[in-house]
Amino acid sequence: MPLPPSDLAPLDLPSPIPARLARLPELACDVWWTWNWRAREVFRRLDYPLWRQTAHNPVLMLQTMAPERLERAAASRVFLELYDEALAELDAARRGDTGWWPAQHGGPGAPPIAYFSAEFALHQSLPIYAGGLGVLAGDTCKQASDMGLPLVGVGFMYPQGYLRQKLSADGWQEEVYQQLDWSQAPIERAAGEDGEPLVVSVPLNARHVDVAIWQVRVGLTRLYLLDTDLEPNAPWDRELTARLYGGDRETRIQQEIVLGVGGVLALRRLRIAPVLWHLNEGHAAFVVLERLREHVEGGRGFDDALEDVRGTTVFTTHTPVPAGHDQFPFQAIETHLAGCWGALAEHRERFLALGSWDSGAGTQFNMTALALRTAGRTNAVSALHGIVTREMWANIWPDEAQVRAPVMSVTNGVHASTWMATDMARLLDRYLAADWRDRVDEAAVWAALAEVPDAELWTVRQLLRGHLFTFIRERMRYRWRVDGVAAPRVVAGGILLDPAALTIGFARRFTPYKRPDLVFRDPDRLAAILNATRQPVQLVFAGKAHPADEGGRHALQRVYRHALDPRFAGRVAFVDDYDLHVAHFLVQGCDAWLNNPRRPLEASGTSGMKACVNGVLNISIGDGWWPEAFDGTNGWLIDPGLASDDAEAQDAADAAALYRLLEDEVVPAFYDRDEDGLPRRWIAMVRRAMTTVGPRFSTARMLKDYVTQMYLPLLR
Ligand SMILES: *Cc1c(COP(=O)(O)O)cnc(C)c1O
Repeated sequence: MPLPPSDLAPLDLPSPIPARLARLPELACDVWWTWNWRAREVFRRLDYPLWRQTAHNPVLMLQTMAPERLERAAASRVFLELYDEALAELDAARRGDTGWWPAQHGGPGAPPIAYFSAEFALHQSLPIYAGGLGVLAGDTCKQASDMGLPLVGVGFMYPQGYLRQKLSADGWQEEVYQQLDWSQAPIERAAGEDGEPLVVSVPLNARHVDVAIWQVRVGLTRLYLLDTDLEPNAPWDRELTARLYGGDRETRIQQEIVLGVGGVLALRRLRIAPVLWHLNEGHAAFVVLERLREHVEGGRGFDDALEDVRGTTVFTTHTPVPAGHDQFPFQAIETHLAGCWGALAEHRERFLALGSWDSGAGTQFNMTALALRTAGRTNAVSALHGIVTREMWANIWPDEAQVRAPVMSVTNGVHASTWMATDMARLLDRYLAADWRDRVDEAAVWAALAEVPDAELWTVRQLLRGHLFTFIRERMRYRWRVDGVAAPRVVAGGILLDPAALTIGFARRFTPYKRPDLVFRDPDRLAAILNATRQPVQLVFAGKAHPADEGGRHALQRVYRHALDPRFAGRVAFVDDYDLHVAHFLVQGCDAWLNNPRRPLEASGTSGMKACVNGVLNISIGDGWWPEAFDGTNGWLIDPGLASDDAEAQDAADAAALYRLLEDEVVPAFYDRDEDGLPRRWIAMVRRAMTTVGPRFSTARMLKDYVTQMYLPLLR
């Protein structure tokens, strides 16, 4: 892959870095460190309190650290050894000559896959994600680096990120947007050969908007982020990319033009020529428009151009919820695409037909329809989601005899090196093959978990629960002392949680179909479960509601009120401002992970997979990925024995099934201890969950599936 010439802009540091540690800023500015335990250890050891204070932000650490600490590190043999090894591994990752792809398909230097996504979740210091879609995109970039697969990401750099969540005394979500200080994040402007920052000019309506290109280093992978907050742009244009999912429909369509059309222009400016264009969700589908325009201006006919685009476009759809698919009135398309047509103008009608879709409330221009009709391969993100998607879009090609591109399924996975707690990874280091991290999708590798003694596995599980409670306590101490929240809210935040009690986590976007408060349907029955004298249970919640999602905001408030309710005695907690950082502690530290969406509306879900790689047991409705993973021994299925169109009846049946599971199976399995104090049945399930889910629901398996089932067959 031809890497652009831009080199690392020097960090603006208050004091010089000792010469022996000259590459520290480089290590801090490549998010590769987030999933390499040696690199993480480098920064932890440099200044552990600061590491925690900055929420693991090495860039900020280097800017604020006392120079003596750096001097001391530079004189420590142990530290230097770690530092040298971490940098050697970073160099190896950037070379990209090892891993699955080079071994199968030749060395580095091949043209990359361009992966377009409206969000990327790489680290909490880069808040350019809202939830699961971003986590999948971020994990994909990291996995591509691990596998030596040439891939460049294209997305947005939202200067105000996604909302920060603040709660009122009564649990009403207030959204806070903060302008980020990008000098404190691992990001830099992409520069051209002359060293000048690159800017592309994107046509919007009758004007042009300047778009800056930022880059994030992700080991071998590069991520390019677009940003309209530039001096010559009008104030409203500078605001266009300010926030993720922040604006109205008009903002949204313009953002999508910037992402799709601007993204192609940016890659051209960077002299990157992708072999394949992967659209992660319909937000990026205007890539197709720009590519068709390029072809037509190069002298090709429309059909010819479309054939070419189909042969090089892959589309992943992510939601079975109809409202989750972006669509716009043709009037808006007319207005905002006015400057984008070029020579494609004479084929305008044909292009518009590609996005035309009647969702039942009139025909609009639908981004998913556009992507489905122009991608050579499309996939859903779980087997069940594949079935739902094929049905949902069955009429997409009404005039054609055969379905052009049947929707396949590539079930999501998670990047184990990102999500597995260090304590757990160190345990696996002792019992699994030395190269288990590189072979994380091989069942045989995980089978060696059988060798881990119960007591050791349980010790790590206890340790991780402890880390979660330390984190929650520290956070509430801060909220109390610095933010001045009232004492009851310190309780609602989890200060009374019992570090030895069975802890069940629920952390995800608050939206009605995920039914965040289902477990409170019968509060008396729940209170009895939670307050059982010898077998207490506690529930920890976290999650944001989209600002426009009234149902989600109300559900959040109901949950928060339960957390404040004395009858639950502090055994229900709500951790505010859910993000990657909070997610790490929760998916590692809980004992069980609750997932109770209204079937079949959860396309896949990934937090349950993150839980599994840490030995956390799923308690889940048979939706999304779980039917593929559940085997009766590796977690629990909430089985209401009923599928009803009546939401009320379904909720009642699902809640009843959940209570039965908790009372009859989950709680007894956790508290049934032998004479050594070990819950043998529980530990056996932990082992099963890790062994069965770890390999199959890894991004290693997932990305290989993408390569072999989606990318290569198309390119052949
Ligand atoms: C993993 C993750 C998600 C997605 O979780 P789901 O189970 O798919 O809902 C959302 N937000 C954050 C911060 C995550 O880490």
